[in-house]
Amino acid sequence: METIDLITLRARRELGAFTRETAQPTKLDLLDLEPLRQINNIEIDEEHITITYNEKISRSYNTNAVTYKEWSYKYNEDTEFVNAIAKVIDLARKHLRDLPETLACPPGCANCCMGYEPFVSSADVQRIADHLGMSYKDVMKNYVNERRSADGFVVGWLQKVDNDDITSKCVFLKGSGSGHYYCGIYPARPHDCAEFSPIGCEDVDTDLRHDAVHKVGRPFQPRHEMKHVRGSTLRGRQRRRS
Ligand code: SF4
Ligand code: SF4
Repeated sequence: METIDLITLRARRELGAFTRETAQPTKLDLLDLEPLRQINNIEIDEEHITITYNEKISRSYNTNAVTYKEWSYKYNEDTEFVNAIAKVIDLARKHLRDLPETLACPPGCANCCMGYEPFVSSADVQRIADHLGMSYKDVMKNYVNERRSADGFVVGWLQKVDNDDITSKCVFLKGSGSGHYYCGIYPARPHDCAEFSPIGCEDVDTDLRHDAVHKVGRPFQPRHEMKHVRGSTLRGRQRRRS
């Protein structure tokens, strides 16, 4: 697996300056990195910095249960701390500039929606059902390969379909024929998809540009909502286009 060095040479020079100005250690061997691995969220408002981190992770079949803990620091009168935070934010922005291109997906890629089969929980299925105006049972029947995990958390995985230009694509993937794909149920997509990270992704479609603007088309429509359009169905039109 490829390792991405997020600290580039330029950033290393800036880290040196940061150490000189703030006396904070920035050498990796001086830092205790373990807590960073567990940080879930950092929020900074006018008065507080609040860090939510995973206190405990218990693993069972196909799912993790995480216990969260919060650390909050009031800093509005602590100018030294505010300045230190400002510098950390500044550094983070500089790192963001240096991040490799594969950290963001090029619009229209969705290669991971072909081949990859996202697991779904009952909450995912219910969200998709509400989004499509269908019953839970119908979503399970039409779009999910049912397989309940031992702990009952996972109820199956999304079905795959084949069409002319691509095989084994997620049943909700759209954009076929244009070469630019998009999720047809994006606001309701499974947690597995929403949490999918492109860091170090090797499946990226390198023909697509990261800075391109990609206009998505119609959302996915379940069959029962398909209307006849000039003697044909929407589905029929989509098939002919692809
Ligand atoms: S870059 Fe990778 S993670 Fe992003 S859409 Fe493409 S295949 Fe999926
Ligand atoms: S639900 Fe959407 S994001 Fe998830 S695999 Fe299917 S098309 Fe891709």
